[in-house]
Amino acid sequence: MGALAPVVEERFARRLLSHYTAGKTVHWYVNFAEMPFSVWDALIEQGYDSVLRATARLSGRPDPVLADLVEIVVAGRGARLEWEHRQGPCTHPSAGVCALFPVLHRTLRLKGYTYVNALRHRELAGPGGDVVDVVRLARAIERGDRLPEILEPAATS
Ligand SMILES: [Zn+2]
Repeated sequence: MGALAPVVEERFARRLLSHYTAGKTVHWYVNFAEMPFSVWDALIEQGYDSVLRATARLSGRPDPVLADLVEIVVAGRGARLEWEHRQGPCTHPSAGVCALFPVLHRTLRLKGYTYVNALRHRELAGPGGDVVDVVRLARAIERGDRLPEILEPAATS
């Protein structure tokens, strides 16, 4: 599955942004592509928190981590996660990918990955120069692929 055409992705981003900022005061930038990454991070962090709360409700585990979410999604139960994104417009291929996206994205950001382009949220570049397509990664995980090493929980020993 190819990436969205830039014009489609930009339209989607605008709609998403207006949805999340409804009723709030926001600073508008002349060039949408020049919005600071912190704006996107804040939106994705909302999704991250929301998905993990839904994971806690569905799994019964009070402090779920990525692995708990992966377990739900791989079992085909992604659509049973109840969070607000499920009611909005979405370009993701499945409910499991929707749920994995903000959690994978946030986790990669915390590990030093950064945006390749402000309008292409799904692509993040690692400190070593590797580029991750977060949607593609989410689809692979949903199909049962192992988590990449960077996302494995840190060894405790
Ligand atoms: Zn989605």
